Amino acid sequence: MAPENLADERAFIGELVGDRPAEWDVAGELPVDLLRKMGAKGMLCAEVPQAYGGVGVGSRENGELTAYVGSLCSSLRSIMTSQGIAASTIQRFGDREQRKRYLAELTGGKLAAVAFSEPEAGSDLAAMQTRIRPDGDEFVLDGEKKWVTGARYADLLLVLVRHGDDAAAVVVPTDTPGVHIEPVADPLGCRAAGHSQVRFDQVRLPVPRVLGGGGQSLSLLFTTALSYGRMSVAWGCVGILRACLSAATGHAKRRVQSGKPLAEHQLVAGHLADLLVAERTSAQACEAASRSWESASPDMIVAAVLAKHVSAGHAARGAATAVQVLGSAGSQDGHAVARAYRDAKLMEIIEGSNEICRLILSQHALESF
Ligand SMILES: Cc1cc2nc3c(=O)[nH]c(=O)nc-3n(C[C@H](O)[C@H](O)[C@H](O)COP(=O)(O)OP(=O)(O)OC[C@H]3O[C@@H](n4cnc5c(N)ncnc54)[C@H](O)[C@@H]3O)c2cc1C
Repeated sequence: MAPENLADERAFIGELVGDRPAEWDVAGELPVDLLRKMGAKGMLCAEVPQAYGGVGVGSRENGELTAYVGSLCSSLRSIMTSQGIAASTIQRFGDREQRKRYLAELTGGKLAAVAFSEPEAGSDLAAMQTRIRPDGDEFVLDGEKKWVTGARYADLLLVLVRHGDDAAAVVVPTDTPGVHIEPVADPLGCRAAGHSQVRFDQVRLPVPRVLGGGGQSLSLLFTTALSYGRMSVAWGCVGILRACLSAATGHAKRRVQSGKPLAEHQLVAGHLADLLVAERTSAQACEAASRSWESASPDMIVAAVLAKHVSAGHAARGAATAVQVLGSAGSQDGHAVARAYRDAKLMEIIEGSNEICRLILSQHALESF
């Protein structure tokens, strides 16, 4: 079982969320006031230091909180992941003034989304075309991003762009003239996460909106943002597996077929064992990645990829197993395992698809052995 750290935060979130995730999933929308309440307590990006208004916890504690939210609602967890990526990127690349200003906004109730993918730059982020160019004492931003989680609810977009021969991360208020946000219709999973296509049409930005003045390496920016995102998604998958374990074991104990509970039929019991192995293996990969992150170990980038790859695969297979155990009882919109089945599949695509993770891991194997 998961350690009960951040008990007050869990109780607060549990109370706010209640039994509403199924309703949000069907409606395809999260309540923005709930997001702002969680945001204003710093819970959407709990690793932000207290000096900037955050909760100031380590990666493992934040991971367990993320898993808890993931066990309730993957759409809500997705918002948490985006806010956390934005905060960690600002912390890493922003100057003193930018950190002070934007981190205070992100722990004060403003919502952020992170935009890197483009119509022609999905797995191949090096193909990115969105760029800023200087114009007088401002920058002008042009381009297009796709599937930006939470953009529909966001006050701020953290946008990764080209900047001359280098790259930059820019903070763009969503109400800036020239920012166009179009929600993605009928996503397969995480239906309430507010995924949107975003177009920037000659958006004018004052210089302080460019983190650290820009001129960073594209791969460093992506790797930093994606590493946080991978760990957050991985922990979210642990939450999906915990929700599936709870639903599957509960059902297998209660439902009687052929004169005994499903749990006493060995083939069903085997499914429960598989789910437990999936949850424990994923949690251990996440704990290892978070320990690497906390100690700024050189293997932290690979550890995050490994945790994400292991956990996403287990969550996708585990959610399918949970639906199998519940049979028709879990085969309807509104049931936690049906939602988990759709949500978990998308975890194999985001923050580096299965194939991209395997390419990174194979490269690491070739260099290490
Ligand atoms: C639920 C969800 C949330 C998202 N949230 C965000 C967000 O917040 N911000 C954002 O910027 N983007 C977001 N995205 C976009 C996401 O990052 C991309 O979908 C992802 O990077 C894959 O890109 P693609 O969809 O263009 O697929 P493609 O890159 O076209 O890939 C299609 C398939 O080909 C495989 N493939 C591609 N290239 C290779 C290769 N070189 N070798 C082997 N296999 C390969 C892929 O693994 C995949 O299976 C989100 C997407 C989803 C589905």
